[in-house]
Amino acid sequence: MAKKKLVILSGAGISAESGIPTFRASDGLWEGHDVMEVATPQGWKNNPELVLEFYNQRRKRALEVVPNRAHEICAELEEYFDVQIITQNVDNLHERGGSTNILHLHGELFKSRSTADPNLVYEMDGWELNMGDLCEKGSQLRPHIVWFNEAVPLIVPAMELSEKADIFIVVGTSLQVYPAADLINYVPETSLKFVVDLNLPAVPDRKNLFMIQGKATTGMQKVLETLLERKAHL
Ligand code: NAD
Repeated sequence: MAKKKLVILSGAGISAESGIPTFRASDGLWEGHDVMEVATPQGWKNNPELVLEFYNQRRKRALEVVPNRAHEICAELEEYFDVQIITQNVDNLHERGGSTNILHLHGELFKSRSTADPNLVYEMDGWELNMGDLCEKGSQLRPHIVWFNEAVPLIVPAMELSEKADIFIVVGTSLQVYPAADLINYVPETSLKFVVDLNLPAVPDRKNLFMIQGKATTGMQKVLETLLERKAHL
């Protein structure tokens, strides 16, 4: 029998226990910066050096940390289900945790992109991207990140995956960033839905919805156990 389709929508909270701070952690600042300065097209226009340095520091940090048990559970679920990750995270901890199908809705930290041609995307070797680093057409490279106020190119495939999910797990996201926050509304009524978060976000009361308050590692363990108990009936 074909494996059931399981979709995981993850956010910054799944990487928190690995040591990467979440965005909305405390004061509306992201690692001490106003997001408008470091994660918008306007910020890039005003001060590209600051933006490049901000992402250089994020890359440096990402190289120092390792995936946690929640990332590993996402990968282990592939043994039982046809798993697709939709992540809002720009780190590569799902890849390093062993997951194979990952859609990065908001871009990837370890890729750079031409400012002249958005189709020119490059894998990065190390952590540094600087002014003067150019694409093959001679234009400045920028981080391959979907900034606030930019379109989300992969939202349509993400919606299509959500519509087909038999099981949908939301983990570690405040559901404050649209259009990602809307994806749960595309999941069929009959599908099983789990929301795992330290501070559970508000989601409309739906059929087959399980809210699990707690850390991503312990919450995902509960999801795994629940799914394995019910597997025969799914
Ligand atoms: P967010 O910061 O808005 O929300 C994080 C959520 O994680 C909150 O609901 C919080 O309660 C929860 N959380 C914190 N620690 C947790 C833990 N240990 N276990 C479970 N839940 C925990 O993050 P978001 O919803 O992903 O949106 C922020 C945006 O910022 C995203 O678009 C993302 O691209 C970007 N961002 C990415 C990273 C990353 O790649 N790791 C980190 C910070 C921000």
